[in-house]
Amino acid sequence: MALVVQKYGGTSVGTIERIHRVADRIERAVKDGNRVVVVLSAMSGETDRLLKLAHEMTALPDERELDMLLSTGERVTIALLAMALRGRGLDARSFTGRQVGIMTDNAHTKARITRVTADRIREALERGVTPVVAGFQGINQQSDVTTLGRGGSDLTAVALAGALRADRCVIFTDVDGVYTTDPNIVPAARRLEKISYEEMLEMASLGAKVLQSRSVEFAAKFNVPLEVNSSFKEGKGTLVTREDTDMEAVAVSGVTGDRNQAKVTIVGVPDKPGIAAALLGTVAKANIVVDMIIQNVSHASLTDFSFTIPRVDVKRAVPIIEAASKDIGAKSVSVTDAIAKVSLVGVGMRSHSGVAAKMFEILAREGVNIMMISTSEIKISCVIDEKYLELAMRALHTAFELDRGSSGDRSGVSSTVR
Ligand code: ADP
Ligand code: ASP
Ligand code: MG
Repeated sequence: MALVVQKYGGTSVGTIERIHRVADRIERAVKDGNRVVVVLSAMSGETDRLLKLAHEMTALPDERELDMLLSTGERVTIALLAMALRGRGLDARSFTGRQVGIMTDNAHTKARITRVTADRIREALERGVTPVVAGFQGINQQSDVTTLGRGGSDLTAVALAGALRADRCVIFTDVDGVYTTDPNIVPAARRLEKISYEEMLEMASLGAKVLQSRSVEFAAKFNVPLEVNSSFKEGKGTLVTREDTDMEAVAVSGVTGDRNQAKVTIVGVPDKPGIAAALLGTVAKANIVVDMIIQNVSHASLTDFSFTIPRVDVKRAVPIIEAASKDIGAKSVSVTDAIAKVSLVGVGMRSHSGVAAKMFEILAREGVNIMMISTSEIKISCVIDEKYLELAMRALHTAFELDRGSSGDRSGVSSTVR
């Protein structure tokens, strides 16, 4: 009897009718002899609605209270689905993150899972009960509710699959797999039969929201067999697996776009040791993740220092950065969120050279100015003016001949905007 974790995203449980369809699918899986653990998101749009309410209430909502509020969305769907399943004669029970022992650190709104006990799930399964678990939420050491960052239900599902040593973790969503490009933006996108954990992790961190990046990180670390599939139709999805040699055959397998960053520039920074540490140290202490960093050549012992941070953290970050800049004697701080990051991803970049040069050439030909560059073994990212993002993505997509190839092969590029 296989143990399967099935996660359904917001669109899949967005209406009563859709919750019924999800219940049908679960009923079939159980009747086929599987033991199923269900993980759900809130109804589509609900988490955004709650966030908006909080920001209407106050400019800078307290993060503990924000988590208390955001965690309610998933309570609604788990209870409704459990009712639907019970209505079909299945013994199903809903559980919150606390009830199934999703223990996290204290980083409200982006908490990291520290431990998963899953005792109540094991008990339920032993009694033939189908557990329906609220995604996206856990509790910290004080038993306060925490949330796992946007898209965090994917992480709940993968973490539970890891803890329960499930045979499979399937992420059911509104597309039938990981595509060569966001199929909602580029209809010519092609579904990938499989993708390596490593590439998927880069793509997810660089804009492909089909899987939350931390869920991929977790799956890779604990070898959780992960699959993305459609909750609306039957058929093949995408397997996220260990890398195999044919994956290196193409240099680039994905293009992503990310609009979720903002650029901070500190002007007139004294060019001496310890400055970067002082500035970035205070930002890190506030739990704000710095992505790209650039320091200009200094003139007359003064330099400019730029870095990117998540847009959602700008309001919180500005006073902290302004205070730190004042302390080190910098002249001024400016922040813009009219930037975007365009990236190429592919494990084949390890064995193919010239990808970066070609990328820069193409952006130059399109008249797109590059503000920042960062590379790793399997990706290249450029920060550009936000208004050129889709142009840049399309140009790169064509220039790397990535819209060619038959469905399911790996010679494509994936372009995604978030
Ligand atoms: P859920 O609510 O089920 O968690 P999400 O909205 O978080 O779903 O993720 C699914 C969406 O991810 C798709 O509707 C699609 O627009 C987007 N997406 C972005 N990049 C890709 C990609 N490379 N392949 C498939 N979907 C992608
Ligand atoms: N409801 C949460 C969100 O919208 C978590 C999730 O859907 O995965 O981010
Ligand atoms: Mg999601």
